[in-house]
Amino acid sequence: MLLKNEIKNILKDGLYNSSLAGSVIRRNRNRLCILCYHRITAPDNRFRYLGIPQDIFEQHIVFLKKHFEIASFDKGMGKLRSGSIKKPLLVLNFDDGYRDNYLYAFPILKKYGITASIFLTVDYIGTKKSFWWDSVRDIIVNSPKSAGLKEDIVMIENINRSLKKLLNEEERYLKIQKLKQEFCFKEKSSKERDILNWREIKEMRDCGIDFGSHTLTHPDLTLLKKDEARKEISHSKEILEQALDKKVSGFAYPYGSFNDDVKEIVKDSSYSYARTCLKGFNNAYEDIFSLKQIDGSTNHIAHLAARLCYRGIRL
Ligand SMILES: [Zn+2]
Repeated sequence: MLLKNEIKNILKDGLYNSSLAGSVIRRNRNRLCILCYHRITAPDNRFRYLGIPQDIFEQHIVFLKKHFEIASFDKGMGKLRSGSIKKPLLVLNFDDGYRDNYLYAFPILKKYGITASIFLTVDYIGTKKSFWWDSVRDIIVNSPKSAGLKEDIVMIENINRSLKKLLNEEERYLKIQKLKQEFCFKEKSSKERDILNWREIKEMRDCGIDFGSHTLTHPDLTLLKKDEARKEISHSKEILEQALDKKVSGFAYPYGSFNDDVKEIVKDSSYSYARTCLKGFNNAYEDIFSLKQIDGSTNHIAHLAARLCYRGIRL
């Protein structure tokens, strides 16, 4: 298994370091690639859970600029629908609305003159609230029982998988309190704000960054009653449009989770398109309310190159 992974890594490095990556990417030139990130961390922060450090992100951007035209989501969708994509086209997305998008991604986007779309979780904007998966991460990583980076990530992912299935927020909250006890976690007296505020959002808007909705509270929409799902989907859009003084066209399903009912509500709420977490590129016949994406969060530029060459398939 170890040898197999090493061979794969050598092949990925070869792909990245040769002109082969460019020619494979050019083969997908009629499709739209949506590349997704969550967090961009400080350059010295190698903790990879849901994020990559700023210096690695800059390497990504240099590679992407070399091989793709990078467009806004609206422009990318316009070209996709009209079938006028002539060279590899890519749209950058950030999910959830983390403040580090402003602190670490935005300076790089400005430096290279490119745009991106950030999908905001509206009830969290400007607050010191934590997403539940970040609470789990804090408990495990800052616990005296922390077992080291790799082991911690495996444990966090296992816990998150079981917590994600819970229907009830209260039940999830109680489980997290129990974890705090189990891992002897001590709450910090003052907590930093992890989520963007309106000032940061508006500054980015004025520099050409787009914003879409990722609901009010980041629920799994398929687990909600229809009226609750409708509130999450349409009310978040209304709040964003009023605050940003701009039409909000894009929606990203929390956890990538959707079904036909949820999709209908998104269409009824006058969004123009919606993105899932399904892997792949999008062609001209794609259902624009279940767009596919590629995960950009990798510290290894050669792995990113391989994902972009093979449309998200993890080789
Ligand atoms: Zn999300």
